[in-house]
Amino acid sequence: NAKRNGGNQYRLYTDDMIALVQRDVRLEKHLRRSLEKNEWVLHYQPQFDIQSGRLIGAEALIRWNSEELGMVFPGDFITLSEQLGLINEIGRWVINEACVQGKRWEDLGWTDFVLSVNVSSRQLDEPYFVKNVQSILQSSGLEPSHLCLEITESMVVDKLHAARYMLDELVALGIHIALDDFGTGYSSLSVLRQLPISVIKIDRSFITDMENDHEGLSIVKTIVSMGHDLNKQIVAEGVETKAQLDLLLDIGCDKAQGYYYSKPLPLESMNELLERSGELSKRRNA
Ligand code: C2E
Ligand code: MG
Ligand code: MG
Ligand code: MG
Repeated sequence: NAKRNGGNQYRLYTDDMIALVQRDVRLEKHLRRSLEKNEWVLHYQPQFDIQSGRLIGAEALIRWNSEELGMVFPGDFITLSEQLGLINEIGRWVINEACVQGKRWEDLGWTDFVLSVNVSSRQLDEPYFVKNVQSILQSSGLEPSHLCLEITESMVVDKLHAARYMLDELVALGIHIALDDFGTGYSSLSVLRQLPISVIKIDRSFITDMENDHEGLSIVKTIVSMGHDLNKQIVAEGVETKAQLDLLLDIGCDKAQGYYYSKPLPLESMNELLERSGELSKRRNA
C-alpha cells in the first residue's frame, strides 16, 4: 500500500501504523505485568429465560483494569495475549474466578443458575486443559452443571476430531458446551453435528438483521427450529430492543442476553440484581 503512494516511496509506515505499533508495545509491557498486579476483573452479563422472564444465568466477560491504560476490553487484548502466550494463564484465571463466584451464588440458593465462560482456541490446545478445569471444579466446589464453556466454530473447525475427544471429556464431567457466535462461520452445521454441543448462541448480527426484512427473520426462525429439533437450547445474543425480544418470544427462542436487559455488570451490580430477582421470585412463589 505504501508503495502506491506516488512520491512517498520510502514511507513504509503511516503515522497511524506507528501509533498502533507503539500502542502494542505499551500494551504488551503492561499486559505482561497485569497478572501480578491483579488487574483482571470479570463482568457478568445476565441471561434470561425469554418466556418466563426469569434470570437464569450470566456470561462472564473479562476486563483488564489497567493502572496505566484504564479499562481495556477483550477485543483489545485477547489476541495479543494469545500471541504472547499469556492466554492460558488468563483463561485459567477466568475459569477459576467464575467458578469461585458461581459457588457463592449457588450457596445463596441460586441452584438453577448457569455461568458461561469464553474459552480461547489456545486453551483447547493445552494438553492439561480438561484436568485443569476438573481441578478448578473440585477446589471451588461448583456443581459442574452450573458451568458452561463457550467455544466458537473457528476454534475447532480444523481439528474436529481432537476437539471432540476433549469436549466429550468435559461433558462427561457434567459441564455444558455452547457454540458462540453461531452462524458467522462457514461450517457451523458440521461443527454442530460432530461436537457435543448443548447450547447454540445466535450471533448478534442475526438478531440485528431480524427486524430488517423477511429474510433476516427467517434465518433466526430456522436456527431456532433446527436447534430445537437437535435438542439444543437456543440463546439470542445482543438483544437490544423490545421489538427484537417480542419476535424471539414468538419464534420460541429459549434464552436471551443483551443491552435491552442489561449490559455486562461489575460484581457488585450483579449481586444487587440477583438480590432483587430473588425477592421477586420469592414474592411470585408466595
Ligand atoms: P462474545 O463471547 O460473543 O460476548 C458478547 C460481546 O457482546 C461482549 O463484548 C458483550 O459485552 C457484547 N454485548 C452484549 N450484549 C450486547 C448488546 O446488546 N449490544 C452490543 N452491541 N454488544 C453486546 P465484550 O465483553 O467486549 O467481549 C468481546 C468478545 O471477547 C467476546 O465475545 C468473547 O469472544 C471475548 N471474550 C470476552 N471475555 C473473554 C474471556 O474471558 N476469555 C476469552 N478467551 N475471550 C473472552
Ligand atoms: Mg461468549
Ligand atoms: Mg458471541
Ligand atoms: Mg465472540
